[in-house]
Amino acid sequence: MKNTDYEGQQALIERVLDRGICVKCGACVGLCPHFSYWDGEVVVLDRCPADTWRCLQYCPRAGYDGTALEDNASQGNGTIGPFRAIWAARSADNDVCEQGQYGGVVSSLLISAAKKDVIGSAVVTDSGSDGLSPAGRLVRTPSEILACSGSRYASAGTLATLNRAINEGEERIGVVGLPCQMEALGRMARSEPDGPERMERVRLKIGLFCTWALDYRSLRAFLAARQLQGPVKK
Ligand SMILES: Cc1cc2nc3c(=O)[nH]c(=O)nc-3n(C[C@H](O)[C@H](O)[C@H](O)COP(=O)(O)OP(=O)(O)OC[C@H]3O[C@@H](n4cnc5c(N)ncnc54)[C@H](O)[C@@H]3O)c2cc1C
Repeated sequence: MKNTDYEGQQALIERVLDRGICVKCGACVGLCPHFSYWDGEVVVLDRCPADTWRCLQYCPRAGYDGTALEDNASQGNGTIGPFRAIWAARSADNDVCEQGQYGGVVSSLLISAAKKDVIGSAVVTDSGSDGLSPAGRLVRTPSEILACSGSRYASAGTLATLNRAINEGEERIGVVGLPCQMEALGRMARSEPDGPERMERVRLKIGLFCTWALDYRSLRAFLAARQLQGPVKK
């Protein structure tokens, strides 16, 4: 790809950020010094002269003509698409089952993959220091995986942590993410110039069912306006 006048980064700004359709998946962050994730928002720190346009290639919203909702509606029939099998499950470990959101299956899969050495680490999402500002976290041990179990119903820029882990040479990574983040992973794998090599480091992808995610800044403001304080359990 050829760069003229910061074209790749500018296209991402115009097509996604300025239109307010960024899903805050974090896929464009952590690749280079020009983007950052600050308090729940993707921020542009500087103009980027790179000619790879990876940020644009990774973005799951860059190709959308309308808004995400309009695009969803245009899929029409409301089915979940192709699948191999559907299972109902919950963790056989009581602690994992209790701490997990709906039975702890996701955490169990990660713990099992770590114990069997399928993965050496996993990118998951924690609750943030105030319990209301979720962010990606690279974890390695069963207890770290379990500490991040449960759902934070907000966008968390989690894939920024994956990008940084790959940049730092991490191998055999597991990733838990929302559908938009799984879509970004698919785009990463097809991206130039190094998508396949980067994605080879990801050994396990677990996509969560999700139809929406809150903007946690607005949630914080909503709670503050009602003088709701203290730790948020769920
Ligand atoms: C924003 C959001 C919206 C959802 N919407 C629905 C819905 O409408 N209907 C439905 O049936 N299920 C929904 N889910 C999925 C559901 O809440 C559970 O995550 C899922 O059923 C797995 O449960 P579990 O007990 O196996 O997971 P657990 O073992 O509790 O593991 C949950 C995993 O999700 C990760 N995680 C938590 N928050 C986030 C986040 N914000 N972004 C990325 N990863 C995260 C954790 O780090 C952990 O690894 C949603 C989840 C999220 C995060």
